[in-house]
Amino acid sequence: MLDATLFCVYKKAIPSSVLPAKTYWAEKKNVVVTGGGVAGSLVAKSLQNEANVYLIDQKEYFEITWASLRSMVEPEFAERSVISHSEYLPHAKIVTSAAVNITDTDVFTAQGSRIRYDYLVVATGHTQNSARTKTEKISQYQIEYEKIKSAKSILIVRGGPTGVELAAEIVVDFPDKKVTLVHRGSRVLEFIGESASGKTLNWLTSNKVEVILGQSVDLNSSSDGVYRTSGGETIVADCHFICIGKSVGSSWLKETILKDSLDTQGRLMVDSNLRVKGHNNIFGIGDITDIPELKQGYLAQSHAKIAAKNIALLTKGAKDEKLAIYKPATKALAIVSLGRKKAVAQFPCFSIAGRVPGMIKSGDLFVGNTRKGLGLQPNV
Ligand SMILES: Cc1cc2nc3c(=O)[nH]c(=O)nc-3n(C[C@H](O)[C@H](O)[C@H](O)COP(=O)(O)OP(=O)(O)OC[C@H]3O[C@@H](n4cnc5c(N)ncnc54)[C@H](O)[C@@H]3O)c2cc1C
Repeated sequence: MLDATLFCVYKKAIPSSVLPAKTYWAEKKNVVVTGGGVAGSLVAKSLQNEANVYLIDQKEYFEITWASLRSMVEPEFAERSVISHSEYLPHAKIVTSAAVNITDTDVFTAQGSRIRYDYLVVATGHTQNSARTKTEKISQYQIEYEKIKSAKSILIVRGGPTGVELAAEIVVDFPDKKVTLVHRGSRVLEFIGESASGKTLNWLTSNKVEVILGQSVDLNSSSDGVYRTSGGETIVADCHFICIGKSVGSSWLKETILKDSLDTQGRLMVDSNLRVKGHNNIFGIGDITDIPELKQGYLAQSHAKIAAKNIALLTKGAKDEKLAIYKPATKALAIVSLGRKKAVAQFPCFSIAGRVPGMIKSGDLFVGNTRKGLGLQPNV
């Protein structure tokens, strides 16, 4: 109370330009963002000049996930798509540790930090076991690249977007490799329409990917490069990649004040302003939320923009009815790249495969645009 009074007198008497920086820091609200993925990085970047922003992430960098499969066949690509948090957050505090607990006032990290928040953003989309530093991450890509380069035959497990994009990257850059894709569903890319997944299957098979549908692979019983499928088939491959989705990054919330805000699937229940239900100063954004829509990066970015706007409004004293509302994306929109030039795109009413959607995504994989969104040069 005394400090606040002193601050008011001080502020009136002295022009703002000569106020010590520390005084400004004290005036701003504390915004703590947990998770430095697609959503968390953008909300932190958007608010870093208006608030005391703390970004808590297990790793020191943000990775543009949709560029990660290209980095497996071209490790240098990761120089632009793996971005140290410090590059785009010059005015925020970066805490490299896992968030482990939340109370009504503070977030606690695995390394023992306690960070007070006025507003909290939970954006820990998926559990990750990633490298801690950018250098380590790029070295991992180098290792994966060597693995692909030295293999004559490669098995990819699961035909979701990650498995399909990886198969395509490999056969386009290394057309001599024998690639087998095993998917337990009845069609690849089940998250988009049948027509789009049929076009994808045609592209894969015409590029000599052997696609086995309706079967799974028992990785435990594989030995010496021989894999058995649930349908009794045998696949011989020098190496394999498992492309299954990661689990929701909410298990750490189960012992926190948000434990009752998780639905049965572990997703964080949010309202139309993207606030966690029952908590006026806590926002949930990105893949961790229970918003009924596909879990996609461009939607996570939209959440981040709405949350940043709402936090900025609240810090200025706006009433609840002035807050921006998020409308879930009800229609599928997705582009899955098929190597460097082609792609398959699902639009709300139709799908298309080939060079046209490829021109939208497959060359740069939106890396330049994503970097621009973080206030960075599109090229390094
Ligand atoms: C290979 C791949 C390709 C994709 N391609 C596309 C695409 O082309 N287009 C598209 O729209 N979407 C794509 N997606 C989906 C997109 O990446 C996700 O929708 C998006 O990453 C979700 O963002 P997020 O911030 O919610 O979560 P994430 O990006 O998963 O980020 C979560 C962050 O939280 C951190 N974290 C987790 N737990 C904790 C903790 N306890 N404490 C601190 N930090 C923690 C993690 O380290 C991570 O930084 C792709 C995903 C993958 C994996």
